[in-house]
Amino acid sequence: MMEMRKMLPFISLCILLAVCTGCANIKGAGQDNSGKESGAEAEESLEKRADGELGDDKSQDGNENQGAGGSQDGNVSGGQQEANAAVKGQSVIEGQLAFAGQNGENTADEAELQPENENARIEDDGGGEAEPGDSGAEAGTEQPDGAPDVLDMASMEFTDIEPMAVYTTANVNVRLAPSTEAEILHKASRGTVYEKNGEGNGWSRISIDGKNYYIKSDYLREKKAPGEGGGHLIAIDAGHQSRANTEKEPLGPGSSEMKMKVSGGTRGTTTGLYEYELTLTVSQKLKAELESRGYEVYMVRESHDVDISNSQRAQMAYDSGAEVFVRIHANGSENSAANGAMTICPTAQNPYVAGLYADSRRLSDNVLDGLTASAGCKKERVWETDTMSGINWSMIPVTIVEMGYMTNPEEDTKLADDGYQQLIAIGIADGIDAYFAAP
Ligand SMILES: [Zn+2]
Repeated sequence: MMEMRKMLPFISLCILLAVCTGCANIKGAGQDNSGKESGAEAEESLEKRADGELGDDKSQDGNENQGAGGSQDGNVSGGQQEANAAVKGQSVIEGQLAFAGQNGENTADEAELQPENENARIEDDGGGEAEPGDSGAEAGTEQPDGAPDVLDMASMEFTDIEPMAVYTTANVNVRLAPSTEAEILHKASRGTVYEKNGEGNGWSRISIDGKNYYIKSDYLREKKAPGEGGGHLIAIDAGHQSRANTEKEPLGPGSSEMKMKVSGGTRGTTTGLYEYELTLTVSQKLKAELESRGYEVYMVRESHDVDISNSQRAQMAYDSGAEVFVRIHANGSENSAANGAMTICPTAQNPYVAGLYADSRRLSDNVLDGLTASAGCKKERVWETDTMSGINWSMIPVTIVEMGYMTNPEEDTKLADDGYQQLIAIGIADGIDAYFAAP
C-alpha cells in the first residue's frame, strides 16, 4: 500500500497522458476529410447538418486500445480524421434573405445568400469582424434605401403561430426585421430562450417585452414544456473525480478481470479544463433542465473531492430508485482532429447485464440523437461494449454520454462554453424525454 501511494502521482500523470482513460478514447470512428467549413467556428456543425454530413461515417475501424493506464471504461482507438482545421474564423452571418430563393451560384459576394450551401455563412458568433450589413451583399451599396422594400415583402409573408418557447442553437443575431440587412437588436448566446409567435421565409418572429424581433429559424429549436418528465427519477453520474483511484475492482459482478476503480479522465488540451470539472458542470445543468421538465434527479456526486468507484456509482444509482442511469463523460483522443459525440451501452451478449441491453441501447440512441441535434455536433455512434465496469455493474438501463472531445481544440473550447453546455443538457434531456415517451 505504501508503495502504491508513492506511485500514485506518477500513475495519475500517466493516465492523463494516456488521455481519458475513463472514457472511450475514440480516435477512430473515421470520418470524411471534407473540411468544407469556411468560416463558422462555433457553428460548423450546423453547416454540416445543412449539408447532410452528420453521421456520415466512413472507415470506422473502432480498434480498441485498452492498455494505456488501465482504462476504466475502455479505450478505443481508431482513426478519425475530421478536417475541420479550416474552421477558424468566427465571422459569419445568418445566410440568405430567405425570399431570395435558392439559386445555384455561389460567388464570394453571394455566399451569404445561400445557407444551404456548404460555403454558406451562418450566424455571427459575436466575435467576428464582418457584420452581415457590412459585407455589402450583392444589392450593392445603398442599404438604407434598398432594405425597406425587402423587409416589407418578408414581413407580409409571416404566419402567426401559437406562442411557443424556443431556444437558440448558436450565437445568433436578433434583428429588428427579418433580413440580414436589418438592424441588430443584440446577439443572443446559445441556449437563450425566447417566445416565438410567427414564422415565414426562413425567419422566426419572437417576442421580447411585447415587441417583435426576428431570428433565422435555422438557429432555433422548440424547447420542451416543463412537466413532461412525469416524475421519472433519473440518476446522473458526473464522470470521474478530482483524484483517480487506481485500486482495482472486478469488471463486472463475479468477474475475475479487474479494472481501475475510477480513472483520472481526460483534460482539455486547449482550455486546460479537467474532465471531472466539465462533467459535473454539465451534470448540474442537466439536473436543472430535467427538473424543469418534471423529472426527479439523483446525483451520484456533487463535488469533486469524492472517492467513488465505478461499480459503487452503479450501485448508488440503483439504490436511489432511479429508472435510468446517465453517466456524463467527455472523450479524448491522440488524434486532435477527432470530434463529435457518442454514447455507450452494453452489447446484447453482455455477461452481466444483457437483460438491460434493449433499454440501454434505446436510451443511448435517444440521448445521442437529442444531444447532437441540440448541440449541432457530429454524431459518432452508439458504441456497444462490455468493457465498462460502470455499465456492467448497473442494475438499471444505462448510457455513457461522451459529449465531445476535449483533445480537439475547437470542441474543447465549445465544451467549456456555458451556452454550449446548456445545449448539451437540453439535448440529453430531449433524449430522455424520447426514451420515456416510447413504450
Ligand atoms: Zn471519462
